[in-house]
Amino acid sequence: MPDFVRPINILLLPMLFIAAAVYALPFSAAIPEQWLYFIPWLPLVFSGVLFLVVGFFNFSRILFAGLVSLSVWTFLKLDFANVHYTQLALVLMSVNMLLIAFYNERGTYSITGLFRIALIFCQPGILAVAYVFKADDFHQLINWPYIDIQGVTVSIPAVAVFSLCFFYLLIKLFVQNLLIDAYLLISLVFSAWLLIEPPRNEIHLSLLVSLNQLLLVMALFKRSLSMAYIDELTGLPGRRALNERMVKLGKNYTAAMLDIDFFKNFNDTYGHDVGDQVLRMVAQKIRQVKGGTAYRYGGEEFCVLFPSTDLDMAEEYLEQVRISVEQASMKVRSKKRAKNNKKGRGLRGKGGSGETVSVTISGGLAVARTKTNPLKAADIALYRAKDQGRNQICK
Ligand code: GH3
Ligand code: MG
Ligand code: MG
Repeated sequence: MPDFVRPINILLLPMLFIAAAVYALPFSAAIPEQWLYFIPWLPLVFSGVLFLVVGFFNFSRILFAGLVSLSVWTFLKLDFANVHYTQLALVLMSVNMLLIAFYNERGTYSITGLFRIALIFCQPGILAVAYVFKADDFHQLINWPYIDIQGVTVSIPAVAVFSLCFFYLLIKLFVQNLLIDAYLLISLVFSAWLLIEPPRNEIHLSLLVSLNQLLLVMALFKRSLSMAYIDELTGLPGRRALNERMVKLGKNYTAAMLDIDFFKNFNDTYGHDVGDQVLRMVAQKIRQVKGGTAYRYGGEEFCVLFPSTDLDMAEEYLEQVRISVEQASMKVRSKKRAKNNKKGRGLRGKGGSGETVSVTISGGLAVARTKTNPLKAADIALYRAKDQGRNQICK
Protein backbone atom coordinates (compact mmCIF):
# COMPACT_ATOMS: atom_id res chain seq x y z
CA MET A 1 0.00 0.00 0.00
CA PRO A 2 1.51 3.38 -0.95
CA ASP A 3 2.36 5.58 2.02
CA PHE A 4 -0.22 8.27 1.32
CA VAL A 5 -3.07 5.75 1.24
CA ARG A 6 -2.39 4.44 4.74
CA PRO A 7 -3.61 7.52 6.66
CA ILE A 8 -6.77 7.55 4.53
CA ASN A 9 -7.20 3.87 5.30
CA ILE A 10 -6.85 4.56 9.04
CA LEU A 11 -9.37 7.41 8.86
CA LEU A 12 -11.92 5.48 6.84
CA LEU A 13 -13.47 3.35 9.59
CA PRO A 14 -14.05 6.12 12.16
CA MET A 15 -15.43 8.37 9.41
CA LEU A 16 -17.88 5.66 8.37
CA PHE A 17 -19.03 5.38 11.99
CA ILE A 18 -19.54 9.13 12.20
CA ALA A 19 -21.41 9.24 8.89
CA ALA A 20 -23.66 6.40 10.07
CA ALA A 21 -24.29 8.22 13.37
CA VAL A 22 -25.17 11.50 11.66
CA TYR A 23 -27.56 9.61 9.41
CA ALA A 24 -29.12 7.72 12.32
CA LEU A 25 -29.40 10.64 14.71
CA PRO A 26 -32.90 11.78 13.62
CA PHE A 27 -34.16 8.28 14.41
CA SER A 28 -33.24 8.82 18.05
CA ALA A 29 -36.76 10.20 18.49
CA ALA A 30 -37.90 6.58 18.44
CA ILE A 31 -35.83 5.66 21.48
CA PRO A 32 -38.09 4.14 24.21
CA GLU A 33 -38.88 6.59 26.96
CA GLN A 34 -37.38 4.56 29.78
CA TRP A 35 -33.98 4.79 28.07
CA LEU A 36 -34.08 8.55 27.95
CA TYR A 37 -33.17 8.80 31.64
CA PHE A 38 -30.07 6.80 31.04
CA ILE A 39 -28.78 8.17 27.73
CA PRO A 40 -27.72 11.63 28.98
CA TRP A 41 -25.14 9.88 31.18
CA LEU A 42 -23.88 7.57 28.46
CA PRO A 43 -20.69 9.63 27.86
CA LEU A 44 -19.70 8.92 31.45
CA VAL A 45 -20.22 5.20 30.93
CA PHE A 46 -18.09 5.15 27.77
CA SER A 47 -15.43 7.31 29.40
CA GLY A 48 -15.40 4.85 32.30
CA VAL A 49 -14.84 2.01 29.87
CA LEU A 50 -12.04 4.02 28.27
CA PHE A 51 -10.46 4.58 31.70
CA LEU A 52 -10.57 0.88 32.48
CA VAL A 53 -9.31 -0.32 29.12
CA VAL A 54 -6.49 2.23 28.94
CA GLY A 55 -5.10 0.70 32.15
CA PHE A 56 -4.44 -2.54 30.28
CA PHE A 57 -2.91 -0.99 27.17
CA ASN A 58 -0.66 1.72 28.58
CA PHE A 59 -1.71 4.09 25.84
CA SER A 60 -2.57 7.12 27.87
CA ARG A 61 -2.79 9.60 25.01
CA ILE A 62 -6.05 8.01 23.89
CA LEU A 63 -7.38 8.53 27.39
CA PHE A 64 -6.32 12.18 27.37
CA ALA A 65 -8.18 12.65 24.09
CA GLY A 66 -11.21 11.06 25.74
CA LEU A 67 -10.88 13.46 28.65
CA VAL A 68 -10.80 16.45 26.32
CA SER A 69 -13.99 15.20 24.69
CA LEU A 70 -15.53 14.66 28.15
CA SER A 71 -14.54 18.22 29.06
CA VAL A 72 -16.27 19.50 25.95
CA TRP A 73 -19.35 17.53 26.95
CA THR A 74 -19.23 18.98 30.48
CA PHE A 75 -18.81 22.44 29.03
CA LEU A 76 -21.82 22.04 26.73
CA LYS A 77 -23.87 20.44 29.48
CA LEU A 78 -23.23 23.41 31.76
CA ASP A 79 -24.82 25.41 28.96
CA PHE A 80 -23.04 28.72 29.24
CA ALA A 81 -25.03 31.54 27.72
CA ASN A 82 -21.95 33.56 26.82
CA VAL A 83 -20.87 32.72 23.27
CA HIS A 84 -17.36 33.98 23.96
CA TYR A 85 -16.79 31.00 26.19
CA THR A 86 -17.43 28.68 23.31
CA GLN A 87 -14.68 30.38 21.35
CA LEU A 88 -12.30 30.05 24.26
CA ALA A 89 -13.28 26.42 24.68
CA LEU A 90 -12.52 25.85 20.99
CA VAL A 91 -9.05 27.31 21.43
CA LEU A 92 -8.35 25.32 24.61
CA MET A 93 -9.65 22.10 23.10
CA SER A 94 -7.50 22.48 19.96
CA VAL A 95 -4.35 23.27 21.92
CA ASN A 96 -4.92 20.32 24.24
CA MET A 97 -5.31 17.93 21.32
CA LEU A 98 -2.11 19.22 19.76
CA LEU A 99 -0.22 18.84 23.03
CA ILE A 100 -1.48 15.27 23.37
CA ALA A 101 -0.08 14.48 19.94
CA PHE A 102 3.36 15.41 21.28
CA TYR A 103 3.14 13.77 24.70
CA ASN A 104 5.58 10.97 25.31
CA GLU A 105 4.07 7.83 26.72
CA ARG A 106 4.59 8.18 30.47
CA GLY A 107 1.79 5.90 31.65
CA THR A 108 -1.70 6.81 32.74
CA TYR A 109 -1.68 6.23 36.46
CA SER A 110 1.80 7.64 37.03
CA ILE A 111 2.48 11.08 38.56
CA THR A 112 2.93 12.63 35.10
CA GLY A 113 -0.20 10.91 33.82
CA LEU A 114 -2.33 12.05 36.75
CA PHE A 115 -0.95 15.58 36.42
CA ARG A 116 -1.93 15.64 32.74
CA ILE A 117 -5.40 14.30 33.56
CA ALA A 118 -5.84 17.05 36.16
CA LEU A 119 -4.54 19.67 33.73
CA ILE A 120 -7.12 18.74 31.12
CA PHE A 121 -10.06 18.38 33.43
CA CYS A 122 -9.53 21.55 35.43
CA GLN A 123 -9.99 23.66 32.28
CA PRO A 124 -13.81 23.53 32.04
CA GLY A 125 -13.77 24.00 35.82
CA ILE A 126 -11.81 27.25 35.52
CA LEU A 127 -14.19 28.39 32.78
CA ALA A 128 -17.15 27.59 35.01
CA VAL A 129 -15.68 29.52 37.95
CA ALA A 130 -14.89 32.53 35.71
CA TYR A 131 -18.41 32.40 34.33
CA VAL A 132 -20.15 32.12 37.67
CA PHE A 133 -18.16 34.94 39.22
CA LYS A 134 -18.39 36.99 36.05
CA ALA A 135 -14.78 38.07 36.10
CA ASP A 136 -15.26 41.22 34.06
CA ASP A 137 -11.67 41.61 32.94
CA PHE A 138 -11.75 38.06 31.74
CA HIS A 139 -14.92 38.68 29.75
CA GLN A 140 -13.26 41.67 28.09
CA LEU A 141 -10.24 39.52 27.29
CA ILE A 142 -12.23 36.94 25.35
CA ASN A 143 -14.34 39.45 23.48
CA TRP A 144 -12.76 38.47 20.18
CA PRO A 145 -13.61 39.69 16.67
CA TYR A 146 -15.92 37.39 14.76
CA ILE A 147 -16.21 36.18 11.21
CA ASP A 148 -19.05 34.43 9.48
CA ILE A 149 -18.27 31.17 7.68
CA GLN A 150 -21.34 29.98 5.77
CA GLY A 151 -23.79 31.06 8.43
CA VAL A 152 -21.62 29.89 11.35
CA THR A 153 -20.14 32.64 13.47
CA VAL A 154 -16.68 31.91 14.81
CA SER A 155 -14.08 34.16 16.33
CA ILE A 156 -10.89 34.78 14.37
CA PRO A 157 -8.47 33.55 17.08
CA ALA A 158 -10.51 30.36 17.48
CA VAL A 159 -10.48 29.66 13.74
CA ALA A 160 -6.77 30.42 13.58
CA VAL A 161 -5.81 28.14 16.48
CA PHE A 162 -8.14 25.35 15.36
CA SER A 163 -6.83 25.49 11.78
CA LEU A 164 -3.24 25.48 12.97
CA CYS A 165 -3.82 22.37 15.10
CA PHE A 166 -5.90 20.70 12.41
CA PHE A 167 -3.32 21.12 9.66
CA TYR A 168 -0.44 20.25 11.93
CA LEU A 169 -2.11 16.98 12.93
CA LEU A 170 -3.07 16.28 9.33
CA ILE A 171 0.48 16.77 8.08
CA LYS A 172 1.86 14.75 11.00
CA LEU A 173 -0.57 11.96 10.12
CA PHE A 174 0.51 11.86 6.48
CA VAL A 175 4.22 12.03 7.34
CA GLN A 176 4.32 9.61 10.26
CA ASN A 177 1.30 7.41 9.54
CA LEU A 178 0.44 7.03 13.20
CA LEU A 179 -2.89 5.67 14.34
CA ILE A 180 -2.99 8.02 17.33
CA ASP A 181 -2.78 11.11 15.09
CA ALA A 182 -5.73 9.89 13.03
CA TYR A 183 -7.91 9.48 16.11
CA LEU A 184 -6.75 12.78 17.60
CA LEU A 185 -7.67 14.46 14.34
CA ILE A 186 -11.11 12.85 14.30
CA SER A 187 -11.65 13.80 17.93
CA LEU A 188 -10.51 17.37 17.27
CA VAL A 189 -12.95 17.86 14.40
CA PHE A 190 -15.72 16.12 16.32
CA SER A 191 -15.30 18.35 19.38
CA ALA A 192 -14.99 21.51 17.28
CA TRP A 193 -18.19 20.61 15.48
CA LEU A 194 -20.01 20.02 18.79
CA LEU A 195 -18.76 23.33 20.17
CA ILE A 196 -19.64 25.42 17.11
CA GLU A 197 -22.97 23.79 16.40
CA PRO A 198 -24.14 22.21 19.65
CA PRO A 199 -26.84 19.58 19.07
CA ARG A 200 -30.34 20.81 19.72
CA ASN A 201 -31.17 18.27 22.36
CA GLU A 202 -29.30 16.59 25.15
CA ILE A 203 -29.85 13.09 23.80
CA HIS A 204 -28.08 13.96 20.56
CA LEU A 205 -25.19 15.55 22.41
CA SER A 206 -24.89 12.55 24.64
CA LEU A 207 -24.97 10.07 21.76
CA LEU A 208 -22.37 11.99 19.77
CA VAL A 209 -19.94 12.35 22.67
CA SER A 210 -20.45 8.66 23.45
CA LEU A 211 -19.59 7.85 19.85
CA ASN A 212 -16.38 9.84 20.17
CA GLN A 213 -15.43 7.85 23.28
CA LEU A 214 -16.36 4.63 21.53
CA LEU A 215 -14.08 5.50 18.60
CA LEU A 216 -11.24 6.07 21.05
CA VAL A 217 -11.84 2.66 22.62
CA MET A 218 -11.75 1.27 19.09
CA ALA A 219 -8.40 2.99 18.54
CA LEU A 220 -7.05 1.13 21.57
CA PHE A 221 -8.12 -2.22 20.18
CA LYS A 222 -6.83 -1.38 16.71
CA ARG A 223 -3.48 -0.46 18.16
CA SER A 224 -3.17 -3.61 20.23
CA LEU A 225 -4.09 -5.64 17.18
CA SER A 226 -1.49 -3.89 15.07
CA MET A 227 1.08 -4.43 17.82
CA ALA A 228 0.61 -8.15 17.33
CA TYR A 229 1.08 -7.91 13.58
CA ILE A 230 3.36 -4.92 12.97
CA ASP A 231 7.04 -4.92 13.81
CA GLU A 232 7.74 -2.00 16.09
CA LEU A 233 11.22 -1.05 14.87
CA THR A 234 10.55 -0.99 11.14
CA GLY A 235 6.78 -0.55 10.96
CA LEU A 236 6.60 -3.49 8.54
CA PRO A 237 4.23 -6.40 9.16
CA GLY A 238 5.99 -9.14 11.07
CA ARG A 239 6.23 -12.89 11.11
CA ARG A 240 2.67 -13.55 12.25
CA ALA A 241 1.24 -11.46 9.41
CA LEU A 242 3.56 -13.24 6.95
CA ASN A 243 2.45 -16.70 8.05
CA GLU A 244 -1.22 -15.82 7.80
CA ARG A 245 -0.75 -14.29 4.37
CA MET A 246 1.09 -17.35 3.07
CA VAL A 247 -1.74 -19.62 4.16
CA LYS A 248 -4.21 -17.38 2.34
CA LEU A 249 -2.12 -17.20 -0.85
CA GLY A 250 -1.98 -20.97 -1.24
CA LYS A 251 0.01 -21.67 -4.40
CA ASN A 252 1.46 -19.80 -7.35
CA TYR A 253 3.01 -16.82 -5.78
CA THR A 254 6.60 -15.63 -5.68
CA ALA A 255 8.48 -15.25 -2.42
CA ALA A 256 11.76 -13.48 -1.71
CA MET A 257 14.14 -13.47 1.22
CA LEU A 258 16.39 -10.45 1.68
CA ASP A 259 19.27 -10.07 4.08
CA ILE A 260 21.55 -7.15 4.86
CA ASP A 261 25.17 -7.87 4.01
CA PHE A 262 27.81 -7.95 6.75
CA PHE A 263 25.41 -6.43 9.21
CA LYS A 264 27.18 -7.91 12.21
CA ASN A 265 30.30 -6.01 11.15
CA PHE A 266 28.23 -2.89 10.71
CA ASN A 267 26.87 -3.15 14.25
CA ASP A 268 30.33 -3.78 15.63
CA THR A 269 31.67 -0.70 13.87
CA TYR A 270 28.88 1.83 14.42
CA GLY A 271 26.97 0.45 17.37
CA HIS A 272 23.55 -1.14 17.70
CA ASP A 273 21.63 2.17 17.66
CA VAL A 274 23.02 3.22 14.29
CA GLY A 275 22.34 -0.37 13.18
CA ASP A 276 18.70 0.09 14.14
CA GLN A 277 18.47 3.32 12.16
CA VAL A 278 19.92 1.67 9.09
CA LEU A 279 17.56 -1.26 9.55
CA ARG A 280 14.67 1.20 9.50
CA MET A 281 16.00 2.90 6.40
CA VAL A 282 16.43 -0.41 4.57
CA ALA A 283 12.90 -1.43 5.62
CA GLN A 284 11.53 1.77 4.10
CA LYS A 285 13.26 0.99 0.81
CA ILE A 286 12.03 -2.60 0.77
CA ARG A 287 8.51 -1.46 1.61
CA GLN A 288 8.42 0.42 -1.69
CA VAL A 289 8.90 -2.75 -3.73
CA LYS A 290 6.59 -2.91 -6.72
CA GLY A 291 4.03 -5.71 -6.94
CA GLY A 292 4.72 -7.16 -3.52
CA THR A 293 4.31 -6.80 0.23
CA ALA A 294 7.33 -6.57 2.50
CA TYR A 295 7.59 -8.26 5.90
CA ARG A 296 10.27 -8.25 8.56
CA TYR A 297 11.19 -11.90 8.87
CA GLY A 298 13.37 -11.34 11.91
CA GLY A 299 16.69 -9.66 12.72
CA GLU A 300 18.10 -8.10 9.55
CA GLU A 301 16.13 -10.43 7.30
CA PHE A 302 13.11 -9.43 5.27
CA CYS A 303 10.64 -11.28 3.14
CA VAL A 304 8.61 -10.08 0.17
CA LEU A 305 5.53 -11.87 -1.16
CA PHE A 306 4.49 -11.22 -4.75
CA PRO A 307 0.95 -12.59 -5.10
CA SER A 308 0.70 -12.26 -8.88
CA THR A 309 4.13 -11.51 -10.24
CA ASP A 310 6.22 -14.09 -12.09
CA LEU A 311 9.79 -14.89 -11.15
CA ASP A 312 11.46 -12.68 -13.76
CA MET A 313 9.30 -9.67 -13.03
CA ALA A 314 9.80 -10.11 -9.29
CA GLU A 315 13.53 -10.30 -9.88
CA GLU A 316 13.39 -7.00 -11.73
CA TYR A 317 11.43 -5.34 -8.92
CA LEU A 318 13.83 -6.68 -6.29
CA GLU A 319 16.76 -5.49 -8.33
CA GLN A 320 15.29 -1.98 -8.15
CA VAL A 321 15.07 -2.29 -4.38
CA ARG A 322 18.64 -3.60 -4.17
CA ILE A 323 19.89 -0.59 -6.12
CA SER A 324 17.90 1.89 -4.05
CA VAL A 325 19.36 0.41 -0.84
CA GLU A 326 22.85 0.50 -2.31
CA GLN A 327 22.44 4.15 -3.25
CA ALA A 328 20.89 5.26 0.03
CA SER A 329 23.18 6.66 2.67
CA MET A 330 22.81 7.99 6.16
CA LYS A 331 24.82 10.50 8.12
CA VAL A 332 25.87 9.33 11.58
CA ARG A 333 27.96 10.62 14.43
CA SER A 334 31.33 8.92 14.25
CA LYS A 335 31.91 6.14 16.73
CA LYS A 336 34.43 8.10 18.77
CA ARG A 337 31.79 10.71 19.44
CA ALA A 338 29.11 8.14 20.14
CA LYS A 339 31.39 6.49 22.67
CA ASN A 340 32.63 9.57 24.39
CA ASN A 341 29.46 11.50 24.96
CA LYS A 342 30.97 14.49 26.74
CA LYS A 343 33.47 15.13 24.02
CA GLY A 344 30.83 14.35 21.42
CA ARG A 345 28.57 17.06 22.77
CA GLY A 346 31.40 19.54 22.51
CA LEU A 347 32.06 18.55 18.93
CA ARG A 348 28.47 18.57 17.80
CA GLY A 349 27.55 21.26 15.34
CA LYS A 350 31.12 22.00 14.34
CA GLY A 351 30.57 19.85 11.28
CA GLY A 352 32.96 17.70 9.35
CA SER A 353 33.14 14.82 11.80
CA GLY A 354 29.86 13.16 10.77
CA GLU A 355 30.33 10.02 8.73
CA THR A 356 28.17 8.77 5.86
CA VAL A 357 27.27 5.10 6.05
CA SER A 358 25.49 2.73 3.71
CA VAL A 359 24.76 -0.98 3.42
CA THR A 360 23.87 -3.45 0.71
CA ILE A 361 21.40 -6.32 0.61
CA SER A 362 21.35 -9.74 -1.00
CA GLY A 363 18.20 -11.54 -2.04
CA GLY A 364 16.89 -14.91 -3.10
CA LEU A 365 13.70 -15.66 -5.02
CA ALA A 366 11.52 -18.72 -5.43
CA VAL A 367 8.07 -19.62 -6.70
CA ALA A 368 5.61 -21.33 -4.38
CA ARG A 369 4.67 -24.13 -6.67
CA THR A 370 6.44 -27.17 -5.42
CA LYS A 371 5.80 -28.96 -2.16
CA THR A 372 8.75 -27.29 -0.46
CA ASN A 373 8.26 -24.15 1.57
CA PRO A 374 8.89 -21.22 -0.83
CA LEU A 375 10.75 -19.37 1.91
CA LYS A 376 13.17 -22.26 2.24
CA ALA A 377 13.75 -22.27 -1.50
CA ALA A 378 14.18 -18.48 -1.46
CA ASP A 379 16.63 -18.87 1.42
CA ILE A 380 18.72 -21.32 -0.62
CA ALA A 381 18.81 -18.79 -3.47
CA LEU A 382 19.80 -16.14 -0.94
CA TYR A 383 22.76 -18.21 0.18
CA ARG A 384 23.81 -18.46 -3.45
CA ALA A 385 23.69 -14.65 -3.68
CA LYS A 386 25.85 -14.43 -0.55
CA ASP A 387 28.33 -16.99 -1.91
CA GLN A 388 28.63 -15.20 -5.21
CA GLY A 389 29.79 -12.01 -3.54
CA ARG A 390 26.64 -10.42 -1.99
CA ASN A 391 24.81 -7.24 -3.11
CA GLN A 392 22.85 -9.24 -5.72
CA ILE A 393 19.59 -11.08 -6.29
CA CYS A 394 19.51 -14.79 -7.21
CA LYS A 395 16.63 -17.01 -8.21
P1 GH3 B 1 25.91 -11.78 5.90
O1 GH3 B 1 26.34 -10.84 4.84
O2 GH3 B 1 26.40 -13.15 5.68
O3 GH3 B 1 24.44 -11.74 6.09
O4 GH3 B 1 26.59 -11.26 7.25
P2 GH3 B 1 25.86 -10.72 8.53
O5 GH3 B 1 26.89 -10.19 9.44
O6 GH3 B 1 24.80 -9.77 8.14
O7 GH3 B 1 25.15 -12.02 9.07
P3 GH3 B 1 24.72 -12.54 10.48
O8 GH3 B 1 23.45 -13.28 10.30
O9 GH3 B 1 25.86 -13.32 11.08
O10 GH3 B 1 24.51 -11.28 11.36
C1 GH3 B 1 23.29 -10.68 11.49
C2 GH3 B 1 23.50 -9.53 12.45
O11 GH3 B 1 22.38 -8.66 12.39
C3 GH3 B 1 23.59 -9.95 13.88
C4 GH3 B 1 23.03 -8.79 14.62
O12 GH3 B 1 24.07 -8.06 15.21
C5 GH3 B 1 22.34 -7.96 13.60
N1 GH3 B 1 20.96 -7.69 13.92
C6 GH3 B 1 19.92 -8.55 13.91
N2 GH3 B 1 18.79 -7.92 14.33
C7 GH3 B 1 19.13 -6.64 14.60
C8 GH3 B 1 18.41 -5.51 15.05
O13 GH3 B 1 17.20 -5.53 15.30
N3 GH3 B 1 19.09 -4.34 15.20
C9 GH3 B 1 20.45 -4.25 14.95
N4 GH3 B 1 21.06 -3.10 15.12
N5 GH3 B 1 21.14 -5.32 14.52
C10 GH3 B 1 20.50 -6.49 14.34
MG1 MG C 1 21.07 -12.87 8.56
MG1 MG D 1 23.18 -10.44 7.02
